[in-house]
Amino acid sequence: MVERRPLIAGNWKMNFDHLRSIAFVQKLAWTLKDAKYSAGQVEVAVFPPFTDIRSVQTTIESDRMEFAFGAQDLSPHDSGAHTGDISGEFLAKLGCTYVIVGHSERRMDHHEDDELVAAKTRAALLHGLVPVVCVGETTEDREAHGASAVPVAQLRVVLESIAKDSDIVVAYEPVWAIGSGQAATPKEAQEVCSALREEIAAVMGNDAAERTRVLYGGSVKSQNIASFMREADVDGALVGGASLDVDEFSRIVQFPKHIIA
Ligand code: PEP
Repeated sequence: MVERRPLIAGNWKMNFDHLRSIAFVQKLAWTLKDAKYSAGQVEVAVFPPFTDIRSVQTTIESDRMEFAFGAQDLSPHDSGAHTGDISGEFLAKLGCTYVIVGHSERRMDHHEDDELVAAKTRAALLHGLVPVVCVGETTEDREAHGASAVPVAQLRVVLESIAKDSDIVVAYEPVWAIGSGQAATPKEAQEVCSALREEIAAVMGNDAAERTRVLYGGSVKSQNIASFMREADVDGALVGGASLDVDEFSRIVQFPKHIIA
């Protein structure tokens, strides 16, 4: 059986300028060092706005911090006449490991549909980035179709358009739980994460399903992270609001202490 290293990912959204991003990663590094954090046990990744990425990169690399970083979006195109867009090639050159695709805020604010999310996923893979593919249902979707149907259908469109050996991360983020303070229950998260893993198995095979990390996101905090991480199919968390507070985010990263205790 494959060991999936937990991933705690902080999505900063449109918060922190480049100066604050430097201060944040420095304080995060000190705080986690004091707490004897081991990157081998839990992987930490931060997702700053585009304008901060170079600053985050140089801070992390010059101090040899054990954090990964990524972008919150990318263009489906490689280059050319796409004003305001950012190519996966540029993100890879900046040392990004990850890029978020299909976050519900982009699906809503920028009318991104499943085909565009699939195209962005392919663009990420083409440039050697690991896409963090976000899926999730609205309250209306849940009432009409149950919890899993929409996230599974969203994921299927992406999976069917990529190679079976692609390295991706999936983030289950119920839209009603994002920024609402009302997280899914661990049981609800497990049910959908398990359905997503079954979908990965159906489209990409059992090996892919075994190795692919499936995260939960939506009002994750230090008080509830351990309860999610106890679930068999939850391999980490995509954290929004709580990732903006260094102390709170570092407590989330240290969730194993509460599971082992
Ligand atoms: C998110 O935006 O991905 C998210 C999960 O936000 P929050 O943690 O604030 O609900």
